[in-house]
Amino acid sequence: MLDNFSEASMAISGESTLVYQEVARKVQREKGIRVINFGIGQPDLPTFRKIRNAAIKALDEGFTGYTSAYGIDELREKIASHVNTLYPNGKPVKKEEVIITPGAKTALYLAFLLYVNPGDEVIIFDPSFYSYAEVVKMLGGKPVYVKMKWAEETGFSLNVSELEDKISSKTKMIVLNNPHNPTGMVFDPKEIENIMELAKEKSIILLSDEIYDYFVYDGRMKSILEDPDWRDYAIYVNGFSKTFSMTGWRLGYVIAKEKITKKMAELAANIYTCPTSFAQKGAIAAFDAFDEVKDMISLFRRRRDVMYEELKKNKWIKVHKSQGAFYMFPYIGEILSRANIQVKDFAIKLIEEAGVTTIPGEVFPLEVGKNYLRLSFAVDENDIREGVRRINEFTTRLMKEIVG
Ligand code: PMP
Repeated sequence: MLDNFSEASMAISGESTLVYQEVARKVQREKGIRVINFGIGQPDLPTFRKIRNAAIKALDEGFTGYTSAYGIDELREKIASHVNTLYPNGKPVKKEEVIITPGAKTALYLAFLLYVNPGDEVIIFDPSFYSYAEVVKMLGGKPVYVKMKWAEETGFSLNVSELEDKISSKTKMIVLNNPHNPTGMVFDPKEIENIMELAKEKSIILLSDEIYDYFVYDGRMKSILEDPDWRDYAIYVNGFSKTFSMTGWRLGYVIAKEKITKKMAELAANIYTCPTSFAQKGAIAAFDAFDEVKDMISLFRRRRDVMYEELKKNKWIKVHKSQGAFYMFPYIGEILSRANIQVKDFAIKLIEEAGVTTIPGEVFPLEVGKNYLRLSFAVDENDIREGVRRINEFTTRLMKEIVG
């Protein structure tokens, strides 16, 4: 009886990235070597001091009860005025159009829960953040994948023509993520505009996950909030996890027209009541921490450059320099085919034989990633040098054995 789990729960597979951290721990324990971890999806800095202080103060002052399901007004107002400064065209966002959630993941979950009926199709790019497809499946929806196109010189592109082909009468939503996990792309603004136009024209909801919006090293990031008509078709998701190094605080948010945030607040009230009260007080101080954010981004830009230069030394790997987020997504198809090995097994070998954790691209979530590895550069610069050196040494050795 207790083993008869619901169909919804069985539609979800566990977070497979954790498997690799587990193998790394085992190797560290058994072989006594320090495994360098390129598998992590969070900044390695502590949350900035002013944010921590504001939360501590809130705790000391007894701000420990429930809040509104929307989150606290002061934070909603801060978010609204922040996006109004960033994207000053159109009708300003007001606090009623903002709902704070326990992490961006919950924001995405509420958005899917609000719209996906069994049988509905949701268009998801391949590769993508794994959680989109899992939640869609859990709700009985069908992820429809659009393969991105790749070239070493230009990186990944969104393949708008294939997207158009995949639209059917059952298409309910398109999920967009820019800057992009796992590829590190900041997509061409023109491509984003084309998708916005398409969504509008075909009356499809555009769910835009912009959680890496501050992690832009080259190029310009186009936000859906730049369109004065975004309220007609779009739902915007962002969060505090990455920009302010607050992953464990669990704070994200949705910006959408008022009718949507109102319904989401009803769902929230029944699922989790509200986001954590004192964490929200801390997040208010985040809006005074943009100097710290700027320093972090400069640090990450340098790390990105180092990782790219080191990977370029490997003749078996093709790599496009990432422009955003904190991931590099090198192509290793030639190694895999010559060594006749699957990317998942290759990632395990890298941990066991080279002492480096990476995430195999097929975790995100399907076909395209089978020829790529995701490497996070939210890691100390010396470790980036040493980790990529180990990867290069390992692949050179492996290929020598095969090619001779
Ligand atoms: N979207 C993307 C693209 C992400 O990479 C992540 C975190 N890895 C999230 C959403 C979830 O962020 P949060 O910690 O705010 O739930």
